[in-house]
Amino acid sequence: MIIMKTEATPEQVSGVVKEIKRRGFRADVSKGEYKTVIGIIGDERGMDFAQLENLPGVKEVFRIETPYKLISREYNRLSETDKSPFTIKVEDIEIGGINPVYIAGPCSVESRKQLFTIAEAVKKSGAHILRGGIFKPRSSVHSFQGLGAAGRDEAIEALTWLKEAGEEFEMPVVTEVRGEGQVDLVAEYVDILQIGARNMYDQDLLTKAASKEKPILFKRHFGASIEEFLSFSEYIAAEGNKNIILCERGIVPVGKGKSFTRYTLDLGAVPAIQKETFLPVLVDPSHAAGRRDLIFSMSCAAIAAGACALMIEVHYNPAEALVDGQQAITPEELKNTISACNKIGKLIAPLR
Ligand code: PEP
Ligand code: MN
Repeated sequence: MIIMKTEATPEQVSGVVKEIKRRGFRADVSKGEYKTVIGIIGDERGMDFAQLENLPGVKEVFRIETPYKLISREYNRLSETDKSPFTIKVEDIEIGGINPVYIAGPCSVESRKQLFTIAEAVKKSGAHILRGGIFKPRSSVHSFQGLGAAGRDEAIEALTWLKEAGEEFEMPVVTEVRGEGQVDLVAEYVDILQIGARNMYDQDLLTKAASKEKPILFKRHFGASIEEFLSFSEYIAAEGNKNIILCERGIVPVGKGKSFTRYTLDLGAVPAIQKETFLPVLVDPSHAAGRRDLIFSMSCAAIAAGACALMIEVHYNPAEALVDGQQAITPEELKNTISACNKIGKLIAPLR
């Protein structure tokens, strides 16, 4: 980590960046109001820090040991860019601010009519962002894989519906990219790229998705520690994209819990992650609980724990959903959940 002098010139900053690159590393430049901090990306063990200290404009050089330094509160504080809270703007929606943001929609896009009906309903219920899976990660190859699985034309058709539904009901849209090969196509249609729990460890997918310069909704793998989750988020940040929305979606349950919930919603992860990073944290109670009758309670608890947003699966008739019907709530239930969560959000915000 290199802290530049307050009076350092832009030429001196680029001189340091050039020197870092010459040594085979990448640089992350964070310009604060008064000073610039430069993060070194790569295996720093072979780096001669003393030499860097002698470069013009450099005030101080030191090592930050954490594997997720670019997204750490510490790094942000150094450049004095720690405007709290750090927010991600998607159109006129601010993720990470004081008002909770609600992402809602079907688990999976099934038809134009199904998507538009749900989009209209979730908007009326108070949702801000529309979700809908087109490339679905599924445990069984014999189950519905999402409309994108049928081929490129079918994927484009479903992506077009998603984009149009977002435009018609004035909501930015998010969908999952399950593999590197889908990133270019999906990025043309959506406002936020989702990386699903199963792909949290896919460095190449993370890097490719980050390069699109769109916000990334990044889900924690159900077996990942918080340290791993943040370390893999760093792959996105290392591409110069810090618009990362971290999503807690439940971890593998143990013992008797197994028969009652799909995963265990790790709500302690929300404040724990917030102590480490400035990135916004959202909660997905749908995949965590796996049961519609728990969504209201888990949503309220998530907002109380400090989540800045929720992502909830909704269907007008959950029984006919092709995927995850057991955890989908109705638009009416979404409305009640949002209303309760807004009250909790208002109550808790001034107490933090
Ligand atoms: C999803 O949000 O559509 C999804 C598949 O979730 P997860 O990756 O958390 O299982
Ligand atoms: Mn789902």
